Amino acid sequence: MTTIGLMSDTHDKLDAVERAIDFFNQSGVRHVLHAGDLNSAFVVPLFSRLRARLHYVWGNNDGDQEMITARFKELGLPPPENFESLKLGGRRIALLHGTHPGIVEAVVRSGMYDVVVRGHTHRAKVTGRRPLVVNPGEVCGYLTGKETVALLDLVRLRVRIIEL
Ligand code: MN
Repeated sequence: MTTIGLMSDTHDKLDAVERAIDFFNQSGVRHVLHAGDLNSAFVVPLFSRLRARLHYVWGNNDGDQEMITARFKELGLPPPENFESLKLGGRRIALLHGTHPGIVEAVVRSGMYDVVVRGHTHRAKVTGRRPLVVNPGEVCGYLTGKETVALLDLVRLRVRIIEL
């Protein structure tokens, strides 16, 4: 399976998180990257239903990081960081929330990645080629009224934005 799931900015919207998990389970992806701002620790146990491996980085609205980290540990997942550098399907992928535009720009220009996955703006957006920069939009739908996730084809480096 060379397609992975992307999501961001879930902001405690439990029913939308459930829909995102259902979608990723149905699509059969083996990895899901979450670009931050899940917000509260009570959201984390929902991800026990996710069949894919979850990769999570901190957003700027994640409240009790100690509690969130404890919940991740219960799922067998490592403590989140502010930045994750992954290699999946032979592609080098950077995962960060994107709070600071200058940091996102530096990562994009570093030449170290095929794909940069970020969130924070709540706007689904795909730009660039090398690297491909992907914002899957917001799962919560609070800002745009659209609850979105994305699928990334690692072979063709194509992104599909999906409204839940
Ligand atoms: Mn944010």
